[in-house]
Formats: sequence, C-alpha cells, structure tokens
Amino acid sequence: AAPVSSRLLANLNPEQLAAVTLPPEPGLILAGAGSGKTRVLTTRIAWLLQTGQVSPGGLMAVTFTNKAAKEMLTRLGAMLPFNVRGMWIGTFHGLCNRFLRAHWKQAGLPQSFQILDSGDSLSAVKRVIKGMKLDEERFVPKQVAWFIAGAKEEGKRPKDVDVHDPHSQKLAEIYQAYEDQCQREGVVDFAELMLRSYELMRDDAALRQHYRHRFQHILVDEFQDTNRLQYAWLKMFAGDPAQGDVPCAVFAVGDDDQSIYAFRGARVGNMADFEREFRVARLIKLERNYRSFGNILDSANALISRNTGRLGKNLRTEAGPGEPVRIYEATSDFAEAAWLLEELQQLHRGGMARSECALLYRSNAQSRVIESALFNAGVPYRVYGGLRFFERAEVKHALAYLRLIENPNDDTSFLRVVNFPARGIGTRSVEQLQEVARASGRSLYQGVSGLGGTAGAKVAAFNRLIDGLRASTQGQTLRVIIEQVLAASGLIDFYRTEKEGQDRIENLEELVNAAEAFVTIEGFGKDAVALPVDEMGQTGPTASELLPDAETGEILSPLAAFLTHAALEAGDNQAQAGQDAVQMMTVHAAKGLEFDAVFITGLEEGLFPHENSVTEADGLEEERRLMYVAITRARQRLYISHSQTRMLHGQTRYNVKSRFLDELPEEALKWLTPKRQAFGSGAGFGGGYGAPSRPAWTPAPAPPPSWASPVPAAMARSAAESSGHGLRPKQAVFHNKFGEGVVLALEGKGADARAQVNFGRHGTKWLALSVAKLTPID
Ligand code: ATP
Ligand code: MG
Repeated sequence: AAPVSSRLLANLNPEQLAAVTLPPEPGLILAGAGSGKTRVLTTRIAWLLQTGQVSPGGLMAVTFTNKAAKEMLTRLGAMLPFNVRGMWIGTFHGLCNRFLRAHWKQAGLPQSFQILDSGDSLSAVKRVIKGMKLDEERFVPKQVAWFIAGAKEEGKRPKDVDVHDPHSQKLAEIYQAYEDQCQREGVVDFAELMLRSYELMRDDAALRQHYRHRFQHILVDEFQDTNRLQYAWLKMFAGDPAQGDVPCAVFAVGDDDQSIYAFRGARVGNMADFEREFRVARLIKLERNYRSFGNILDSANALISRNTGRLGKNLRTEAGPGEPVRIYEATSDFAEAAWLLEELQQLHRGGMARSECALLYRSNAQSRVIESALFNAGVPYRVYGGLRFFERAEVKHALAYLRLIENPNDDTSFLRVVNFPARGIGTRSVEQLQEVARASGRSLYQGVSGLGGTAGAKVAAFNRLIDGLRASTQGQTLRVIIEQVLAASGLIDFYRTEKEGQDRIENLEELVNAAEAFVTIEGFGKDAVALPVDEMGQTGPTASELLPDAETGEILSPLAAFLTHAALEAGDNQAQAGQDAVQMMTVHAAKGLEFDAVFITGLEEGLFPHENSVTEADGLEEERRLMYVAITRARQRLYISHSQTRMLHGQTRYNVKSRFLDELPEEALKWLTPKRQAFGSGAGFGGGYGAPSRPAWTPAPAPPPSWASPVPAAMARSAAESSGHGLRPKQAVFHNKFGEGVVLALEGKGADARAQVNFGRHGTKWLALSVAKLTPID
C-alpha cells in the first residue's frame, strides 16, 4: 500500500512540495494570500510526524488566533492516526501560558496565577493611577495601559524605559507600581505572559537547554505580524545564530502584503532579519492562488501593486475569471444593511450556507446597524471579536467569584464583586479598605482586619462568604462549583429581579455549559471522556494548559484551568455554536480565513482608509494591505459597498467613496447602482457556485460521536482503579514534598491518570500520577 506520507503529498504543486519536505534547516516561505501557506505548514507537521522524523512532543507550531490553532489540530487529527491532543500548537499567548504553568515557580508566579484580559488590565491601571493620586486627565488610563503594553512588547521593564522629562519619569513610576500590584495579586496581563516567559528562558540556562534539546522543529504561521518580543522569544526556543547557537529547524511562513498589526508593534522587518540571521538557504515562493476566482484575484493584485517597498510576489489562478466583483452605493448605512440582507437571502436561496458568507468591516462600530437588520429578519449571525462571551459583565462577575475562591488576594476580582450584588458596602468603605491595605502592603482580602466599624463587619462577612464557598466546593465538579457560586453569591437572585435580567441569566447558564464542555474535553470530572480530535474545533484544545509541575507532578485544579481558559480564549464559541450563521467580523479578525462569499462594507474615505491613517504614507499603505486581506478572503463572490451617509459615534457623516474603489481594475467590476452603471454590464462569465478548488482534503463528515453517551461515573472510576497505579479513594499516601495525604478522587488512565489528594495543611491538590511520586501508606 502507498505509505500515508505519499498520500499527504499527492495534491501539492512542486513549490508546495518542496516547502513541505524541506530538510530540517531554517526555511522561509514568502507567498501571497490563498497560495497554501497554512496548508503547507500543516502538511509539513503531518509529514514530519508521519515519517517519524520527529515525535509529537518534539515540535512547536505558532498560529495567530485560537481559531486557527483549533483548525490546525482538527486537520492534523484527520490526517494522522494518533491523538494530537497535547501537542505544542497554539497562539503565542497560549504557548506562553502553558510554559509558565509548567514553570511558575522559576518565573516567580503563584501556581494559580490568573490572566488579566485587556479590560481587567485597564481597570488595574486605573487603580494604580488613583492610588498614586495622579490626575487622570494628564495620565489617561487608556494611554498609560497602551504605554505599558508597548514597553513590554519591546522587552522593557520600568528601569529600561526611556526617561527624558518629568512626564515620562512618572509613566515609568506608574509602570513600576502596576507591576508591583500585579505581582502582589498574582495576576499577569497578556504582554506579561510573553515577556515573563522570554525572560525566564533568557535567564535560566538549564531550562533553555532543555527546550532547545526538545524542540527540533518550530513552525510559525503569519510571521509578518510578529513583534520584536515574539521574535526574540522564538530565538530563545530555537537557538539564536547571532549568539553562536545552531538553531533548530524554524519554518516561517508569511506575506509582507498582509502585515496589518504594525499599530500593535508588529514588525514586517522580522522576515528579512530572519532570512539573514538564520541564513535561510532557500527562500520558497508560492505563486499559484487556490482560493479565489480571477476577478477577485485581479482586484487584489491591482490594489496592492500601489504599495511601495514590497518584497514582490505574483499571484495567478487557474480558476477562470468567475463572477465580477459587485460594487454597491447606498444612500445610508440603513440602506446598505437592507441591501446586504437582500443579497444574503438570495445567496442562501441559491444554496449557499450562511456560514460561507462573511460580512467584513473596518471598525466594530459598524456592526450594530447590520446586526439589527439581520436580527429583525430572523437571519442567524455570529459576531466574532465583538463583546465576547467571557467579557460580558454578568459573566465577569461570576468569574470574579470563582477567581476569589482560587486566590482571595486577587484585588481586581475583589473590587468587582465585594459589593455586587449590593451588600451595603459603599464607595467610602471600599476606599478606606484600599487605604488600609495599601498602608500595610496587603491585599484587600487581608486588609479587612485593619478596618473597624460596620464597614469592617460587612467586608468580613463577604470574606466569610468566599471562604465558605471555597470550603463547600472542595472536591466538587466544575458544574457544581459554578452552580453553587451563582446561587450563594446572590447573582442569580439579583438578575431575577432585574428587568432585562433574563438575558443575563441565560448567559450565566451558558457559563455552566462552557464549563461542562471544558470538563469533557479535558477529561476532568466524573464523566471524563476524551473527545475525538476532529470535534475539537467545537470545544477548544486546552488540554495543553494542564501540564504537571515538573518537580511535584501537581496540576492545576479544574477550576484554575477553566479560569485560564476563560481569560485566554475569550469565547470564539458563542451561544449559538453549531448553528448555520452568517459570519461577521472586522477585517483584522478575518486574517487567514476564507469564505465562499465576502461582503466588504463601508468603503468610504475616513472609514476605510481610516481617518487616523491617511495623514501618513505608512498608515495608508497599512490600510491598503488591510483591504488586500479583505478582498482575498473571498472564494467565489465578492461584494463591496459604500454609503453616502452614515451614523457613527452619534453623528451623521456625509461620505466620499473610498479611494480604494478607484484602485480596482474596472474590467473586473460590476457597479450595481445606476450612478456608475458601467462598462459592459459585467456578467458574461458563467456564474454558479462551482468552486475553483474546493480543498480536496476537507475532513469527511465525522461519524456519530462515540462520546455522545458519557461514560458512567462508576466505569470511569473502575478504569482508573485498574490502571496500574494501585491507588484507591480514601487511601492514605505520602508525597515527598507535600507529606501525608488522603486520596479524594482518581481519574483517567495510563499517562493521563490523575489523583486529587487532600494534604491537610498543604491543601487539596490534583497530581499527575505519571510524574508525582505517591507512596501508599497502609
Ligand atoms: P492566507 O495568506 O490568506 O493565510 P494561505 O496562503 O495560508 O492564505 P491556505 O489557507 O493555506 O492559504 O490555502 C488557501 C486555500 O487553497 C485553502 O482552501 C487550501 O485548502 C487551498 N489549497 C492550497 N493548496 C492547494 C492545492 N495544492 N490543491 C488544492 N487546494 C489547495
Ligand atoms: Mg494562512
């Protein structure tokens, strides 16, 4: 029989084949949109594994979004006969989190450190500014937060920040105070995840040795959007040729024309640096586009050709011209939405799945009008990257209680819910508490002892609520924990009495569901079952976050792991997961994705290109790259619209159509509106939805999932009991670090076996039995 590896390689063109099978040395693939970069990267991973050149633990792959990481795991799962769960595949942040979870101690973090999302981090900055009694007009919290994140992304600690005047001096002081506060509370923000793990690798030679020995292959997608720190981080893991190291086989793929995150510190120059520093012997270019029909591709090519300083690539397709690109001019944003709705319905009647239609816009504020049009017409839609599930107020309140159970010194969470629902603890009392705590260098939770009077008594009662919840949820499943917290905190009762509360209660119930899905995929909880890999796209591969501590074998409690998941994942899966829904997102969020039909809306001067960008040449070129990304998401049909008037930020704006429309080749377009009734009315090219190149390897429909009926608890338990570690519940055991304990629960089998053990003074811990040394005491 043909070896699986040759089946993997069968459908590649010669350049793709060369890229996939590049010898184990640094490689760079520079290629335009839709040329198969991501596909090549994924196939290379499968090929390396399949041919036994590397073990699943010997490679790391970095993707740009959680969604992309999931897709990659799903595809690999379909290509390979073994379980890809637990491989080091993820976003930079996800991988850093995983690394720090395994080495929290060396990194100077508490084991249950929590992650601040950008909203949390902003409120933490506000508290610092307030605590330093600075003027918020002069030190605008948003700008300060931006400054801190920017410094971290350049690898700078407060002492490294450029100080040239009193203002920058103060900024550095705020940064220092913010850092101290985060450390005290045991929390890290997104940029800190990167910087902390970079510094740990830089400073700990043994650890560096270990990982460099371990990873023989590192693969990076969307390399053009890496920032300085990420590149430096990669060099820590790969080996840095500038330091005389022999680097591992770093395989980078990117497209300079799709670099769209400069505003966040991305550095397209990393590609040229990489090529030079790693002495890339062969730069591979892919020039055939497999995604789009000719008119779409011609539009993209013509547009991007106006940019200067490109690395230069050509893209061609063999798919034929296809439908013309349709352009529509609306009188108002409402009319634009009505037109969108009409076109969407027509495509749907023609047999196109709603999920194959994407609505893209330059800024989030544009989505509201479109959403309400779709909503009123009963068309299901899903918004990506808007206010995401885990960011909704009620969900954050519930998470704050959960975080306090894990770590009562988390002041951000404390402040969020100490008086929510209201328990008569006023702003004055909270300020008093903050002062007491600050003066004695303690957390708010600890500070209560220094607070007298009724205020003190009320806060003490809140502390008892948290302590009580911690005690009563000990050893419970996630579902029970969350249900108890929702009830005991008073959150559910509170929203019951609220007028619009039903929605919020539903979201809280959805949180329970999210926890359950998480439990299932992690194999935690009584009903633990491993999901088939190709189902991962629906629930999220977070098993990777559960690495045991290298020394003691301790793993995160399911609750701590879930909270991490909530902060990192920020819910790509919304309530209507699984439903066939129109996809809505900003152009930034659409990177790397593809759809049968794409609508790009709001092509107006000031909006797209964005008004902040047009004054600088660099800014305009970045906007053009953004438009290039938008256009190249489309496989079969592309629609572009603009409107004469638009309500934005409470004002009606009168708009001129975007210059980008004039940069598209007239012969590829069809103007739908009379004003610009154009050239040869467009049609002519047989329409229909015959795809030019439907991916031949789209995974076959999954068989009925074997996990549909959960394994009964008793069975799971007996499996664990018979799995060779010889432990049973209630057994007394000895651990070389935590001393004597009693086994509370056992789960999983083989390498996956875990035990929950009560170590008395040391608390209750989950241990990976493959690592932890537990001796039964009889
Ligand atoms: P982007 O720059 O937008 O991220 P990309 O270069 O990563 O694009 P892919 O997403 O990997 O491109 O591929 C685009 C589409 O073309 C996918 O649907 C992919 O399956 C398909 N494709 C790539 N190579 C081939 C091939 N050799 N034969 C058939 N289809 C292919
Ligand atoms: Mg890609």
